[in-house]
Amino acid sequence: MPQCSFHPGVETEMRCAECDRPICPKDMVLTPVGYKCPVCAKPKRSQYTYVKPKQLVGAIGAGALAGVAGGFLLGMIHLGFFLISIVWGMAVGEAVRRGSGGHRGPVLAVVAAVCIVIGSLVGQLGLLAAVLGSLGAVSTLSWTWSR
Ligand SMILES: [Zn+2]
Ligand SMILES: [Zn+2]
Repeated sequence: MPQCSFHPGVETEMRCAECDRPICPKDMVLTPVGYKCPVCAKPKRSQYTYVKPKQLVGAIGAGALAGVAGGFLLGMIHLGFFLISIVWGMAVGEAVRRGSGGHRGPVLAVVAAVCIVIGSLVGQLGLLAAVLGSLGAVSTLSWTWSR
């Protein structure tokens, strides 16, 4: 008999309707398509990709601050332009993530990108810095999208 994936040593005939791993009655979660394991029963898109308005406000505030302050600073130093633009973008992405309470996703990536574009205008960094910065921010905010 197969053993429960969540409780080693517990034998079971039940399987998750989605991933087919063995589950014991303790783990079964009833869904419209049958019993599932606790992992598959969770909503597919992480709750962290759904952003509440209040969290969005926090994200925009943090992103705007990091974007404008960073853009201003970058405009003043002119050092290691390409690399710093990406690092700046990642920092803005991280600020947006923290400002929103740890969220990621397309909405926040757009917020970060807009903040970077504004920041690059403030610092007169040019299009290339805006693009590189946006890439950095999007990479920071996007790695869990596909889960
Ligand atoms: Zn499953
Ligand atoms: Zn179990």
